Parts: sequence; C-alpha cells; structure tokens
Amino acid sequence: MAKNWLKGAQSAYDTVVIGSGLGGLTAANMMAKFGHKVLLLEHHYNLGGLATWFKRKGGHVLDISLHGFPYGMIKTLRRYWNQDIADHVIRIKNIRFDNPQFTIDTNFDRADFTRILLDRFGILKGTIDEFFHTLRGMNFYDKMPLNTREIFERFFPGRTDVHRFLMEPITYANGSTYEDPAIAYGIVFSNFMDKGVYTFQGGTDQLIKKMKAELLKNGVDIRNHCMVEKILMDSGEDGKKKVAGVVVNGQEIHASAVLSNANILSTIHKLAGDENFSPEFIEEVDKVRLNNSSCQVYIGIKKGEKIDYLGDLMFTSEASELDFDKVLSKDVTSRSYSFYYPHIRPDHDRYAIVSSTNARWADWANLSDADYESGKKHLIETTLDALEKYVPNIRKIANHLEASTPRTFKRYTLHPTGTSFGTKFEGLKISRELPQQIDGLFHTGSVGIIMSGWLGAANYGVIVANEADKFLRSLKPKPQLVAGV
Ligand SMILES: Cc1cc2nc3c(=O)[nH]c(=O)nc-3n(C[C@H](O)[C@H](O)[C@H](O)COP(=O)(O)OP(=O)(O)OC[C@H]3O[C@@H](n4cnc5c(N)ncnc54)[C@H](O)[C@@H]3O)c2cc1C
Repeated sequence: MAKNWLKGAQSAYDTVVIGSGLGGLTAANMMAKFGHKVLLLEHHYNLGGLATWFKRKGGHVLDISLHGFPYGMIKTLRRYWNQDIADHVIRIKNIRFDNPQFTIDTNFDRADFTRILLDRFGILKGTIDEFFHTLRGMNFYDKMPLNTREIFERFFPGRTDVHRFLMEPITYANGSTYEDPAIAYGIVFSNFMDKGVYTFQGGTDQLIKKMKAELLKNGVDIRNHCMVEKILMDSGEDGKKKVAGVVVNGQEIHASAVLSNANILSTIHKLAGDENFSPEFIEEVDKVRLNNSSCQVYIGIKKGEKIDYLGDLMFTSEASELDFDKVLSKDVTSRSYSFYYPHIRPDHDRYAIVSSTNARWADWANLSDADYESGKKHLIETTLDALEKYVPNIRKIANHLEASTPRTFKRYTLHPTGTSFGTKFEGLKISRELPQQIDGLFHTGSVGIIMSGWLGAANYGVIVANEADKFLRSLKPKPQLVAGV
C-alpha cells in the first residue's frame, strides 16, 4: 500500500505553504514565529527547491545553486533564521572573467570594480562614481523608464567591453538581458557590489538541515512527498473569493491563508484556476514571460586528487561580445564554473566543479530519449573540452560526470519550462496583486528578477509572511471591552 505522507496531519491550519524553496521555507518560518499554525507541503523528497544538492557514489556531494549570493544574506539569515546559520556564511575570494575581450580577476566589490574600470577600461573616476550612485539610488517604487542597455549607453557609450564586464555575471545569475528594466539590474548588481560575493560553508545540505531544525523548533508541520493539486476557494460575504485550503495528495486540508512558492503562473492557472480571478487580471497574467532555464554539468573529483586554486567562480565565454542568443544557445559558448575546494565543506576533503549555462526549454523539450541522452553526453564532453584550458588534467582526475537540463529543473521543481529564475519583471506586479484578487492567497519566491536568487527569494518570503500575518490577524475577532470589569 502507498505510504500516507500526511499521516497525523491536522484537518486545518492557519496557513498552508506550498513549496519549500528559500521563499517558502523563510515564509513558513516567519509565519510560525508570528504564532500561526503552519503546514509546509513539498512534493519532492527533499526541502530547498533549487537550493539543493545531491550525493553520488564515491563520496561526491554536488550543489545545484550554491555559487554565490550577496552580503545581505547574512542579515537575512540572522534575523529571520538564527545566528548559527548566519555564522556559516563566508566570502568568496576571487572571481575570474575570461573571454575574447578581457581576462580579469576580481573580488567583486565596488572598490575593486572601480579600480578595474579606471585602470583596465580607462573610465573616468567621476563617471564610475556617478554610475554606482545612480544604481544605488534605484528604488522599486520609482518610475524608471530606462532599460539596462540605455543605462550602460548613458554612462559608457559604445563600450561593449565595459557593458559585458558589468552585465555578463548578472545574466548568468538571473537570466536578465539588456532589454530588462534598469531597476532590476540596478538592485541586483548593487546588492553584490555592496561587499562582494558569499557562500555557505558546509554546503547546501548543511544549510537546509539547519533550516529544517529551526522550522521544527518553531512548530512547523513539514511534509515531503506532498503534491498540492488545488487551492480551495469559498465566496466571502462581499462576493470576493477567499482561500479555504488545499487539496494535497487527494486530501483536503483547510486554511485561511495559502502562501504559494510554486511558480506564479502555475499558482494562478493550475492551483487556483483562472475562473477565480477577474478577466482583466488574467489578461495581465497572460503577458507575463517566464525566465530562461539552465543546463549544468556536475564534475566530481577523485579522492586524493586536487585542483590548484583558480578562483571560486569563473565566467567564461568564447563569444566575441556579449550576445544573449549565444548565452542561451544549445551550442554552448558561455559557461560559468563554480569550483568547490575542501574549505567549502570542511568535513569533506573533496573537490568538485559545477559548470552552469543558461538554456532554452524549447531546445530540450521535445527530444526523443536517444537524442536527449546524446545531447547530455555532448554537453558533458564539450564542457570537459572547454575546462581543459583551466584544468588540463580534468579528464584524468574526474570520476563522476552528470548533466542536468531544463527538463531536469522542471521535473524537480515543477516550474513551467524549467524556469530557473521565475519570471521577467512584469511577474512581480502579478505576484504582489494576488491577495487583492483572492482573500488569503499569497505568492512568494523567484519572480520579476528582483525577487530571485537566494537573497531575493528569502527576503520576498519575509515580505509576504508579514502580509499574510496581517491578513490572518484581521480575521481574528477583536477582544470585547466589558464595562465595570
Ligand atoms: C543552475 C542554477 C544556478 C543558480 N545559482 C544561483 C546563485 O549562484 N546564487 C543565487 O542567489 N541564486 C542562484 N540560483 C537561483 C536560486 O537558486 C533561486 O532563485 C532560489 O533558490 C529560488 O527559490 P524559490 O523560493 O523561488 O523556490 P524554488 O527553489 O523554485 O522552489 C519552489 C519549490 O516549490 C515546490 N513546489 C512547486 N509546486 C508544488 C506543488 N504543487 N506542491 C508541492 N510543492 C511544490 C518545488 O518542488 C520546489 O521545491 C540558481 C538557480 C539555478 C537553477
């Protein structure tokens, strides 16, 4: 008989959180800390969503999305999780760019970028300061009509080398292009420039283990292998729809608030149902573009073998200039490598390399099984060829090779088209407006470029948990004042 993964669950909670990405996990933790009864439902056997890892024979532990996040993550982990988790964040020392326009090593903060823009690219100090000042001053609520290309042209006209230096890492980090609003670039880039790039010492497995312990301590009921099929609705007295709960693994569970960490489009179209929203809202939803997906090659190094320190992250490209079509092409010319040295997992004396490339769903979606397998083999072989430039003996020292594609990302996260970074900018407004359409329905997680990445997703979890808390409190009857007591 199939195992009942909901055994012992209650029939009703204050809040159900759908999905355990960093947005869902953080929202669930906050809601529990606010004093609500929280049920966290995750279809996968693991928690973390894209913040995940896997283990393979031979002692390999390979991280999916732990490559680097901004300094702000320390504050987020300390305030909304705990001091111990925050204490494991360490700075990445060196990031290398290598492409036909330049080879540069940097620690990726404002002082070092200023030095490189001055010395290497010959930009005037005043222009550099003004550029950073403009980006820093960008605010989500400002009307900022410029796109990223226009902001680069304003400060560095015709300098495709400078544009590439400033843009390429952010393209790898969140799929954004020159056509995306400058505000999305400005916020994400400024977050990194603040104090450089950081990682979690111990690896994603340790982070998620510690987060799970904190959630349990705060009373969250956590259920893996639990697929939410539907968000249940009632009609309120004013005729407005309101959330009533969810159907999960065929079972109804009631709740006054539902926070979905599933993709925003799946939340609306699949879980809630278009018929529960106004037609005008659905018209806007139909304009939301999903972001691109990714391919990765995971390379486990034999026990006892070493890689000399080359930097922690390396952004490489064979394209003559930054070209977003080429960045996404199945004919890969751009790869970002994450190097994992033993100090990243101090209890585990091993090296690993993960090569990541941005990718299009359409290139992988409809391949036959045979073509899919040979596509993955090709990806692995060409990655090793490219990596030989930096690690000449890579074929000799690697003893685990594995590839993932947009299909892999879709399978494990359920995100439509395997999107790695949620939606383009317009998705954020839709996510923010869900509660105006349906009482008690909230969305959190990668959306609109700004709210993506480890820091963006976790911070968005906090913002939405605060809103859901306010909503739940508004439902509680106010205490009556009794005269003479
Ligand atoms: C290859 C790659 C590299 C990356 N590198 C970095 C990096 O270096 N730095 C960085 O900051 N960010 C990086 N990111 C992005 C970052 O990992 C994500 O933005 C972030 O982890 C997403 O968190 P999220 O809250 O949006 O949820 P997700 O991680 O997308 O998780 C959503 C969860 O919801 C679950 N779910 C969905 N539908 C249902 C359902 N119906 N029922 C139950 N469960 C459901 C899914 O199983 C999943 O666990 C990378 C991403 C990729 C793919």
